[in-house]
Formats: sequence, C-alpha cells, structure tokens
Amino acid sequence: MRAALLHGPGDLRVEEIEEPDGEVGVRVEAATACATDVKCLRHGHLILDPYPARFGHETVGRREDTGELVLVGDSVACGRCRACAAGRAQLCERMTWVLGGFAERIAAPAGALHAVPDGLEPAGAAMAEPLAAAVHAVARAGAAPGADAAVLGGGTMGLMLARLLVLAGCEVTLADRHAERRAQAQAFGATAVERLGRHDIVLEAVGRPDAWRAAIAAAAPGATVVLVGGCPSGSEVTLPAAPLHYAELDVRGAFHHDRAEVDEALALLASGAVDWRALAGETIGLAALHDALLRPSGGEARKIVVDPRL
Ligand SMILES: [Zn+2]
Ligand SMILES: [Zn+2]
Repeated sequence: MRAALLHGPGDLRVEEIEEPDGEVGVRVEAATACATDVKCLRHGHLILDPYPARFGHETVGRREDTGELVLVGDSVACGRCRACAAGRAQLCERMTWVLGGFAERIAAPAGALHAVPDGLEPAGAAMAEPLAAAVHAVARAGAAPGADAAVLGGGTMGLMLARLLVLAGCEVTLADRHAERRAQAQAFGATAVERLGRHDIVLEAVGRPDAWRAAIAAAAPGATVVLVGGCPSGSEVTLPAAPLHYAELDVRGAFHHDRAEVDEALALLASGAVDWRALAGETIGLAALHDALLRPSGGEARKIVVDPRL
C-alpha cells in the first residue's frame, strides 16, 4: 500500500510499504492535517515512532471487517495509570498513539475506533479529533453562559474554540491579525478584533511564547487563562509575576481529549452545530501532501483534507 513516511525533519516520501498489522484494518477515506503534522514534518515530534515514521492522526475510513465508517482515534489510554485512575485519560502515562492516517490503510486497536454518525462525511468526521481537543479546552475554561470569553488566534483551533464558546452561551471575542480569519470568526457567531482587551476567560490558540504572554496580558483580574496551543518543544516561557499573584489569574494547560469528548465532537459535527465545511480546505492526494503542509499559512484558516484514493 502507499503511505506518506517521514524519514527525518523535512523529508517526507510517499512510498509503497508493507500492510500494517493491527487488530482492525481500516481503508482510509479522509485524513485531515493540522499544525501538529506541520511540526512532525519540520522538526519531528515526541509522539512519532523512530524514522521512517508514519504520521497523520485525524483519520476516517471503512473497517475492512464490517464496512462501517469509523473515526480512527489517535490514542488509546491504558486505563490503569495514575492519570487514568484520576479520570484524566488525556494525560495517560502509557498512552498508545495511533498514527498513520496519511496512507491508504491503517491498522488500529478496536479501542481507538468511534462510529461515525449517519450522514456525516469522512472529511467532516476527521475533524472530530481536533474538535475534541477544543471541547476539552472549553471544559477546562469552565465557561458559563453569559461569560466574557476571548480566543487569541484565529487558526482552525481558535475558530473551533470560538464556536464552542458561542454554543456555550458566552460573549465571545476572537483576535487575529488576518481579516479573512476575523470574517470566519464572525460567521461562527463571535465578535472579531485585531487585538484583545481584557476578558474573564482567555483561551490561547497560537502556541508561541509571545502569544502565551499576550494571553496573560488580556486577562482581567480573577480571570481563567487556558493555554491550548503547544509551544515548540524545549520552549521556556517568561511570564510577568504581578498579574499571576495580584490579579489571582488561574492559568491552566489544556491537552488532548478523552473518548467521550471525541464522541461529543462527532455529534456536534453531525448536527451542524459546528460547520465543518467552513473549516475544510482543498482535498489532495498523498503526493501533494509535502508541499501543502509547507505552504505558508495566511488568509482563511482551513484544514487540508487528504484522500489517499486520489
Ligand atoms: Zn491534529
Ligand atoms: Zn493511563
């Protein structure tokens, strides 16, 4: 079968490889790409296997045994470690990562699979993976109806966060310097600005040290700040001490999701509450993936959709 393999930073090759082994074989119909995939290609990533490594973690396809359309979840928690026992499976210390969506076929543990609701297309269902992380981040923010909530960054994750906060009944402001992304945020029901004021809830969705500092600067006294964007590995972030102490800021990380959050995301996409078509970009084959991932971002925020059958 054909698969996109990483041979090292910046070195992606589409090759014929052995069919992967695993509990359930799935023929891939759509795999969406995100900033993590760009990171994997440019710099490598701690979740990757040794090179050559398969990647792609937002994957939908048909089970070979039943023909059912499934989302192949990108992780299976062990269920027994300290984090799992505490009900925080997203922090599992012995997580099994399931990567390799950028390929004609993937093999996955049955525990990674989620049934796709009727009527939801493969490309839309694939977005349940990042949307589940947004569901998790919004839960970490403790957003109540009527709350003044802000999102820093209008990439696809920022737009998903804004939409979920709108659905939660918050007054939502999203900041991004691109006019096209501000227009997307407005279509999702948020107010869009170039720069945030001060807000009771701030979700950071950029993933750079300067953006983490900007999120703290946009926090009103007593605010909750949720850091959703992961900084490049090895980053250290200097934060101002005064607001952390005197303004009693509640600064939290948000990482990944659990199984229930993935199912919640699938339901939101199937019902149309989150319009996945507004976040879908071009559909490409495996051969075009390298160039598409390295294309400079700008303009509208849209996810690349890979259909390995093209
Ligand atoms: Zn992703
Ligand atoms: Zn665990």
